[in-house]
Amino acid sequence: MPAAAGLSPEILAKYEPVIGLEVHVQLLTATKAFCGCANHFGSAPNTNICPVCLGLPGALPVLNAKAVEFAALASLALNCEVRERSIFARKNYFYPDLPKGYQISQFDKPIAEHGWIDVPTADGTMKRIGITRLHMEEDAGKSLHDGFADSATRTYLDLNRCGTPLAEIVSEPDIRTPDEAFEYLTRLKEILLYTEVSDCNMEEGSLRCDANVSVRLKGAERFGAKVEVKNVNSFRFVRAALEYEIERQIEVIESGGRISQETRLWDANEGRTYSMRSKEQAHDYRYFPEPDLPPLIVSAEFLSKTRKKLPELPEARRARMVAEYDLSPKDAHTLTNSREFADRFEAAAKSAKNPRRVANLLISEVGGRLNALGIDQEQSPVSMAGIVQAADLLDEGKISSKQLKQLFDVCFENGEDFAAVYEREKPEQLTDASAIEKMIDEVIAANPKQVEQYRAGKKTVAGFFVGQVMRASKGQANPALLNELVAKKLDG
Ligand SMILES: [Zn+2]
Repeated sequence: MPAAAGLSPEILAKYEPVIGLEVHVQLLTATKAFCGCANHFGSAPNTNICPVCLGLPGALPVLNAKAVEFAALASLALNCEVRERSIFARKNYFYPDLPKGYQISQFDKPIAEHGWIDVPTADGTMKRIGITRLHMEEDAGKSLHDGFADSATRTYLDLNRCGTPLAEIVSEPDIRTPDEAFEYLTRLKEILLYTEVSDCNMEEGSLRCDANVSVRLKGAERFGAKVEVKNVNSFRFVRAALEYEIERQIEVIESGGRISQETRLWDANEGRTYSMRSKEQAHDYRYFPEPDLPPLIVSAEFLSKTRKKLPELPEARRARMVAEYDLSPKDAHTLTNSREFADRFEAAAKSAKNPRRVANLLISEVGGRLNALGIDQEQSPVSMAGIVQAADLLDEGKISSKQLKQLFDVCFENGEDFAAVYEREKPEQLTDASAIEKMIDEVIAANPKQVEQYRAGKKTVAGFFVGQVMRASKGQANPALLNELVAKKLDG
């Protein structure tokens, strides 16, 4: 998205952006952080509420142990050090959807600090982005400004979200480009999904991102004044908002202006940010330790139990799968898009005679057809079991790869799984050795040059003859037998 004035590449190159990200994720607990109300999106307004999450006088919070476990699990997955003793604090501010008048959060002693995520950069290397901290807090309710007949004059409140457990994950200002920000968020979300601490559903607000961005002349030590871009609801928009904001800030500085520290909102329709409020009269949240909650103690025992629940994380899983299934990094990426899909693939692959072949068919044959149709893996007519069956038939030489392609074509044309199509079509196989030999003789007679090459030592030419005969047999020659006979004839 271009800024108001197109800046020349030379001017843009003088500056270095500095980006830090703050991500809020709702933890996937059954109940809220400090009371027994259901933690559930989409209930009728103001039905999942009680004196605790409404902050009624005398109500006391009780910390949800599952929320602590999830926060610790996410912290470990993000390479953070989990603090043995952390402190809940009150963050005081007034807002209509915050009935207590404060949020229970963590301030100077968060549950975890000093983590990192490695992200790929433009030149293909990996870059480590620091994670300053992960702290626990509770969500506020929701103000509904539209959707009602009298929305022009009234605001409605839904307090179901009050007290939903959150983990806020704050990165170091290590990010230098909008693409790095995009990669960081993508990896972060993937790790959180693998650990199953959140559904990370951005449409429902269970993952929300704020970006801090400033620019400085390359080589400068001091950071420029930073602007916070709030509540951008997709990673693509975060990237677009950062691209816009970087150009806007450089333009202001180049024209002799000064960047004011402020909060801006992203308007996806217009492709620009606009000022929401100045940070110069920033809130003073008057943090103080929450008097109704004792310090949170994460014992070594609790932590080691939690560590055992860590799944194999996406990056490690990819590296292993590249080696185990002979995949390209790109294919490993495709297969590990979600933990659930990777699990299904690996369970299927392990049940097949040749796991690599399952990977291969899944990516090239099924994946290729899905891509061509522009549909997702979930909508594939061919199940994992179908792919395993096809791989085994191919391995046993019961079908040729050409027949396999034809069977897959039928699956996709009819929306049928492989087993049904194979059962019905049972492609005929030519297993009559004398008939195959006759075809081989014809191909040999027609290609004396290739025969010469083979006999001169270029053994790979055998593949040419196999291909020619397979074609002559309309894909029906038994592949194992064909290979054997071609070698015999050529060597004989
Ligand atoms: Zn409640």
